[in-house]
Amino acid sequence: MRILLVEDEPDISRQLRAALGDAGYVVDIAPDGEEGQFLGETEPYDAVILDLGLPKVDGVSVLERWRRAGLSTPVLILTARGGWSDKVAGFDAGADDYLTKPFHTEELLARLRALLRRAAGHAQPMLTCGDLRLDPKAARATVNGEPLRLTSLEYRLLHYMMMHGDRVISRTELVEHLYDQDFDRDSNTIEVFIGRLRKKVGPERVETVRGLGYRLMPIGAA
Ligand code: CA
Repeated sequence: MRILLVEDEPDISRQLRAALGDAGYVVDIAPDGEEGQFLGETEPYDAVILDLGLPKVDGVSVLERWRRAGLSTPVLILTARGGWSDKVAGFDAGADDYLTKPFHTEELLARLRALLRRAAGHAQPMLTCGDLRLDPKAARATVNGEPLRLTSLEYRLLHYMMMHGDRVISRTELVEHLYDQDFDRDSNTIEVFIGRLRKKVGPERVETVRGLGYRLMPIGAA
């Protein structure tokens, strides 16, 4: 899952990048509204964390422009304490959730998980595909109850595929959602990671759909 963080306070950015990274997300950071707006329009993010008080273009204006352009990515806004009118303006502009500064990182991560889950149409926090289970809160996966030992990239790959387990996912889509913008992206490396994931979860669980991409197969009882 790839997240855009639009935040001008370096301390908060640094802290959130680390926490989001530990939780298995890749993060791009924009330090002002202008760059944030541009990245949000040009890169495919799974969710956006948007501070409202930003240099160059304020957060509400950024959000309004995104929504006007048809962008439906879930957006969590960060507002100043007591800024109730900011919250109203943010929701009117198309925000999906908000947090008031200062906030606990754990709460932000919990809200983000809920946003991503709803956006992908999942009501349950635990993701399942046959007897394959993934817990986004603990960042752990099991097959038939047995814990899987996954590298962070393998975990991100499995998490993304389980979020979208009902359809075929192209290599391009995987590359766009598993790496941040600075990564030298080569869609051939995805094949290597798919191969490693197959070894760990069982080859029959990851089907290759010729010319289209990959699909997770539900094997075993949930
Ligand atoms: Ca700010």
